[in-house]
Amino acid sequence: MIVAIDGPAGSGKSTVAHAIADRCGLTYLDTGAMYRCVTLACLQRGIAPDDPEGTAEVARSISIEFVPAESGQTVLLDGQDVTADIRTPEVDRNVSAVSAVPAVRKAMVELQRAVGEQGDVVAEGRDIGTVVYPNAEVKVFLTADAEARAHRRAVQREGGDAAVDKSATADAAAEQAILADIKRRDQLDSTRKEAPLRPAEDAHHIDSSRLGVDEVVDRIVRLMEEAR
Ligand code: C5P
Repeated sequence: MIVAIDGPAGSGKSTVAHAIADRCGLTYLDTGAMYRCVTLACLQRGIAPDDPEGTAEVARSISIEFVPAESGQTVLLDGQDVTADIRTPEVDRNVSAVSAVPAVRKAMVELQRAVGEQGDVVAEGRDIGTVVYPNAEVKVFLTADAEARAHRRAVQREGGDAAVDKSATADAAAEQAILADIKRRDQLDSTRKEAPLRPAEDAHHIDSSRLGVDEVVDRIVRLMEEAR
C-alpha cells in the first residue's frame, strides 16, 4: 500500500508519517529531506540554488540514504551524516529555489518511485499524491494555520515537540522568523510551475491546527483500512 501525505511546511507531515510507518509497518519516505540534501550539496559546492544545470548535475550525482535511528532516522549524503545540517536556516532559505528546478525534481521523483516499487510506503512531501504516486491508495492533504506551523517548528528547533507538549514555548523572535520563512516557502512552493504544492483531487483534507498527532494518525489509519 502507498500512503501519500502532502501539505505545507510544518503541518505535521513528518510526525504523522513516522507514526503511521511505525504503527502499520510501512517504509517512511521523507521527500523534503531529499530536496534538502540536494540543496546542502549545492551550497557545499558553491552552486547557485537557481542554476538549472549545476543543481541538476548535483541531484543526479549524489547518493542519499535513510538509516533508521532511535529518534527517527539518520540522513546520509554521500555517506556523511547530514541529519542536522539539512535543517539549518540556510538550507531553509534555499531549498525552494533548488526544488523548483525541473531536472532536480525529475531525478528525485525517479528515486522516490523506485522506493515505492519495493513495497509499502508512507511518503510525505508536496507532490506525492499528484506526481510521484498518483495511484496511491490513500492520499491526505494535511494543513494547519501558519501560526500553528511556525510554533511547532520553533519548538522543534529547541528540541521539544509541540504536538506532545501543548504548553511548550519557544523564543518569540525565532518563532516570528520561522513564520516569515514558512509563509515565503508556502508561496514559492505553491506558485512554481513544476509540481506545485496542491491537493490531489482525490485527497482527504485534514486540518491539524487543533488536532493531536494521535487523532490525525487514527483518521489516516481508518482511511487505510477502508482502502484495503
Ligand atoms: O518538507 P520539508 O519542509 O522538509 O521540505 C523542504 C522543501 O523541499 C519544501 O519547502 C519544498 O520546496 C521542497 N519539497 C518539494 N517537493 C516535495 C518535498 C519537498 O518541492 N515532495
